[in-house]
Amino acid sequence: MQILDGKALAQKIEKNVASEVVKLKENTGRTPGLAVILVGQDPASAAYVNMKKKACDRVGFYSVTHEMPEDISQEAIENTITMMNQNPNIDGILVQLPLPPQIDTTKILELVDPSKDVDGFHPYNVGRLVTNLDGFVPCTPLGVMELLAEYNIDVKGKNCCVVGASNIVGKPMASLLLNTDATVEICHIFTDDLKKHTLQADIIFVGVGVINLIKEDMLKEDAIIIDIGINRTENGKLVGDVDFENVAPKCSYITPVPGGVGPMTIAMLLSNTLKAAKLHADKNA
Ligand code: NAD
Repeated sequence: MQILDGKALAQKIEKNVASEVVKLKENTGRTPGLAVILVGQDPASAAYVNMKKKACDRVGFYSVTHEMPEDISQEAIENTITMMNQNPNIDGILVQLPLPPQIDTTKILELVDPSKDVDGFHPYNVGRLVTNLDGFVPCTPLGVMELLAEYNIDVKGKNCCVVGASNIVGKPMASLLLNTDATVEICHIFTDDLKKHTLQADIIFVGVGVINLIKEDMLKEDAIIIDIGINRTENGKLVGDVDFENVAPKCSYITPVPGGVGPMTIAMLLSNTLKAAKLHADKNA
């Protein structure tokens, strides 16, 4: 069994991004800029935003966080996004989800300029991903693909079972796999007999948010396990969706939590923002 070390790869990617930032500044005078919109006081969201801001600082990006109260109006968020769309110093706009119930999230995500949509949530970029055209791809599944590539794991023709079908994890994960010629199955909360599906898989990708959902009797010998879930146990320990201790000995490769997919998500946010900055620099050249 080999660990897929997302932390190490994320550090390598960060280094590359940092040196690309130096080059971009030298060649165009441009510093990549990321604007984050954080609504409310959810501690997990605040922690993620803080991690993203620190990562931006490490690679030399300009970043700004717009913190807004829980009872903010739709109009106020929309005005901020419109401002960020027009701001030439901002290359990427990230709206930390979830937004409070009074807010129409779809409308907010649709307002982000697709060329600044570094989270890849705008329907324009979703469409480009599904049709296998270049665009912005959601950071978590993109990070998974990078991690597989780093370890020379070729998904072509492999049976891939994606467990979880959200717009930000499962669906884009499935599209990326399909675009690289994998055979893809998507399971979700209404899937009957999950085990029947996971047992067929060469690679299981699980992003659900249920501790110990994937147990050792649910995978075939030497399967590859990608654990995208992030959960906290009652004792505050960070764990994924996989019963790591019992599953790991049966796998050929597995991602740990923490230190697997999580750091790759942040690394991909940096690389998407750099990509946006280069696009904007080319446009203005
Ligand atoms: P979500 O709630 O939007 O979607 C959950 C999906 O899991 C749904 O498709 C649902 O049908 C499915 N599901 C729920 N219970 C199930 C079950 N018992 N069996 C099979 N499928 C089931 O969640 P999300 O935003 O996609 O996040 C999923 C997990 O991934 C969470 O743990 C989240 O913290 C984590 N996550 C991690 C990263 C990262 O960087 N590693 C990024 C985003 C989300």
